[in-house]
Amino acid sequence: MNEMELNVADLNLPKLAPDVSGKVVLVTGTTSGFGRRFAHVLAHAGAKVAITGRRMDRLEDVGNEIKAIGGGYSSHALDVTDVESIRRVTAEVEEALGPIDVLINNAGMNVQALATEIKVEDFDQILATNMRGTFLMSQDVGKRMIDRGEGGTILNIGSIGSHTVLPYLTAYCMSKAAVAMMTRCLAREWARYMINVNALCPGYIETELNSDWFATEKGKAQVMGYPRRRLGLEPDLDGALLLLCSDQSRIITGSLITIDDGQSL
Ligand code: NDP
Repeated sequence: MNEMELNVADLNLPKLAPDVSGKVVLVTGTTSGFGRRFAHVLAHAGAKVAITGRRMDRLEDVGNEIKAIGGGYSSHALDVTDVESIRRVTAEVEEALGPIDVLINNAGMNVQALATEIKVEDFDQILATNMRGTFLMSQDVGKRMIDRGEGGTILNIGSIGSHTVLPYLTAYCMSKAAVAMMTRCLAREWARYMINVNALCPGYIETELNSDWFATEKGKAQVMGYPRRRLGLEPDLDGALLLLCSDQSRIITGSLITIDDGQSL
């Protein structure tokens, strides 16, 4: 075949960046850290983003940032430990932006403590936010996706703690291990509805959740123990985020994708 006979369209080459334009994406925990970054990146890529969290002043700031980016969004007070709050917000999002195409379960928290020392209230709050909150959000949005009949995507934010022991973080690791198994169970149960369920398992990336710790001498020593002696940065998750929110990950489901610069090796 010569150059003239070749129709490049027949090669079915991929788009240069995963396409999320026009998708309605509900992200939990967008008032800081990863969630705020996800909201910026998705809005920049043309998605309509539902931003959520408990701190309303922060939510307003993120809304203004999305306006400056030129993106579409809606803003909602959400506490993922409260099932009534979850139900109210998913209905509000669909009213404001249309049916939810993608749910990102990002809201999370940790408390550093030895297993012998952790307070029961802290243990309960970690499990209620990271594990139960992720499940209840997925349950509500999953039912909506099934009723709509057009599939969808759920992206959970796990951690290397989903599969690796992190010191002083037993409850956190337990909650993230549950998120990993939940990801695989829901992916299996909802495969027939064309709902993809995956998890990103990031290593240590500097955000408000951990910046105080990494400023301490012990924190700095921890970083020196990593193969590349550095922390990840929030933009290091952009590529995986866009891929897993786009239709280009059509047959990726039930996957736990570690993004840790080799920290857990
Ligand atoms: P941040 O503390 O910066 O952000 C956490 C977000 O979760 C905030 O927006 C907070 O909003 C929200 N949140 C917490 N509790 C609730 C709740 N009950 N209801 C609703 N929203 C809630 O943390 P990161 O950005 O670092 O972490 C984001 C996710 O990434 C978490 O799941 C974390 O476990 C995970 N992760 C982080 C890593 C890191 O190195 N930073 C590594 C691996 C995983 P508000 O307080 O306004 O409600």
